[in-house]
Amino acid sequence: MKMILLGAPGAGKGTHGEAIAEFVKAPIIGTGQIIRDTIKSGSETGKRFKEYTANGGLIPDEEVVKIVAERLKQPDCANGFVLDGFPRTVVQAEMLEQLVGAVSEVLYLKISDEEIIKRMGGRRTCSKCGATFHVTHHPPKVEGICDRCGGELIIREDDAPETVLNRLAIYHEQTEPVIDFYRSRGVVVEVNSAQEVHKVRKDILAALRLH
Ligand SMILES: [Zn+2]
Repeated sequence: MKMILLGAPGAGKGTHGEAIAEFVKAPIIGTGQIIRDTIKSGSETGKRFKEYTANGGLIPDEEVVKIVAERLKQPDCANGFVLDGFPRTVVQAEMLEQLVGAVSEVLYLKISDEEIIKRMGGRRTCSKCGATFHVTHHPPKVEGICDRCGGELIIREDDAPETVLNRLAIYHEQTEPVIDFYRSRGVVVEVNSAQEVHKVRKDILAALRLH
């Protein structure tokens, strides 16, 4: 199973990614987290990544593909993977196809900009493990504390309002064409992500069972 999660920033890829990965029995590869870890490491690559992403911008295709290719070489990806946050451009999608061949499935979480802007304000991310929560749609059991690892929940710089608007503009311009790229391959499954979390989850699992 070579699967890709697509959708605007805030569409719920982080919220549903792990359940999907468990369902299809493949590791979830969150490129956002890999990039954040690289930046945290303070390496030369990390410093470059920090500059690129400072205002919600994208890291150049070749650099992202390089770190994704490294990750996909790990033994846990031998029987497949679920990619979250990649590819973000058609060029990246083409490079991925060269790297791993045809993708088996692309799950597209569809949602309007208005709904995203409403949601991002309530988004909280674990400062330790990167798990995401939402104050109303997907609250942690204890306010401000990660269910998974007990880490402190924070508002990521990525989720600040100006950054969200900028990321949405980039998404429409560069990532939306990726959906058409995979539509032409006949592998896109669409789920309405502007619903309650449990309903979205139900629809996702139903959609995956059909294949
Ligand atoms: Zn955590």
